[in-house]
Amino acid sequence: MSYHSLSLEEAIRYAANLPGIFPENADLQVREIGDGNLNLVFHIKDSRSGASVIMKQALPYAKVVGESWPLTLDRARIESEALQLQESLCPGLVPHVYAFDQELALTVMEDLSDHIIMRKGLIEGNRYPLFAEHVGKFMAHTLFYTSDLGMNQQAKKQQVKRFVNPELCKITEDLIFDDPYTDSSNNNYNPLIREEVEKLWRDEELHLEVALLRESFLTHAEALLHGDLHTGSIFITPESTKMIDPEFAYYGPMGFDIGAVVANLLLNYAGQEGWIKDAGQRSEFRQYLLDTVRDVWGHFSRNFVQLWERDNVDRMARTPGYRDLYMKKILRDTIGFAGCKMVRRIVGLAHVADIDTIADPQVRAHAETIALNIGKALIKLNRKAESIEEVIAIAEQYA
Ligand code: ADP
Ligand code: MG
Ligand code: MG
Ligand code: MG
Repeated sequence: MSYHSLSLEEAIRYAANLPGIFPENADLQVREIGDGNLNLVFHIKDSRSGASVIMKQALPYAKVVGESWPLTLDRARIESEALQLQESLCPGLVPHVYAFDQELALTVMEDLSDHIIMRKGLIEGNRYPLFAEHVGKFMAHTLFYTSDLGMNQQAKKQQVKRFVNPELCKITEDLIFDDPYTDSSNNNYNPLIREEVEKLWRDEELHLEVALLRESFLTHAEALLHGDLHTGSIFITPESTKMIDPEFAYYGPMGFDIGAVVANLLLNYAGQEGWIKDAGQRSEFRQYLLDTVRDVWGHFSRNFVQLWERDNVDRMARTPGYRDLYMKKILRDTIGFAGCKMVRRIVGLAHVADIDTIADPQVRAHAETIALNIGKALIKLNRKAESIEEVIAIAEQYA
């Protein structure tokens, strides 16, 4: 079937013909549940057996605030290949892919509707005690085993080729590493924080750090990144965590993924200004979020070091002192990228619901200022950082 976006009827027919998913007599019901900006997401369920699947189809354009620009369908291949590779490296932490249709840019995958999007859960004030362990393990395994530490260097170069993703990287390069630091027409911010935003545009110390982080994003093909690991790309329950939506996957610096997780925990931390009214309860939930930041780094780094000791393929990697310097570099990158990701969610094109859906513009401006201050401080800290505790201290200082 040549590419066109599927109608609901076509989606049902397509699903009915998938081998081994639904019984002969299935009574299939369909709903489109995506947000419709980049991709269609069909939820298809047999009302008789209860069996269900998700079919995600890439659209050939991106739609943002009424405008639309072309966007490669190849990202659907990248997403399905990344999911399958991640599952092989780290079973149970991503949706299983049943099939991929290159022509239609369509991935058929496990239905995770019994999970909720973590961003929504955190806004509701839920806690997820296993999250740090799960995401720490996910990042350690996927990053280690796709890097020159965990795989043969020639095989790695072949793998880099499969995940060259220039169009999606350009979105990151523009929206994260460029627009927020200048008076760009792509920017989008609360007029109440205009003064803070103008300070950002004049801050040359900050611009230098962002230029260096951007350089790292552009040139450091360390490992296969998820590339968009915010809390809206994480499906969660108290027992289970699944990373979805790796269409931005490419070979980049490891700290970019870890930084995304840290940034989104801290964006929720700032956003709690508008959610938990009682000061004592708010401070308790914020403590939980900071403990989670600490634990995410802790689980990631312990898992990564363990893999380094156990599965390193590289004689040179056993050079005394090298491992500790490597871990410090990942920590510093994590902190710098976390800062960039916080700033872009306040000043740049796409925001996060944790802060953006706070109804009172004054309260929202307060939350935005907290996030912006933490973000700027993390960016300025990054090359000097020695410990994740410095991140915790910065967050506590500005809230
Ligand atoms: P996009 O790349 O357009 O953001 P996502 O992969 O994040 O698409 O999916 C958008 C939404 O569709 C998710 O927030 C979730 O509600 C739903 N969804 C996506 N994948 C699944 C899945 N495997 N199971 C259940 N719902 C899903
Ligand atoms: Mg989306
Ligand atoms: Mg998404
Ligand atoms: Mg996506």
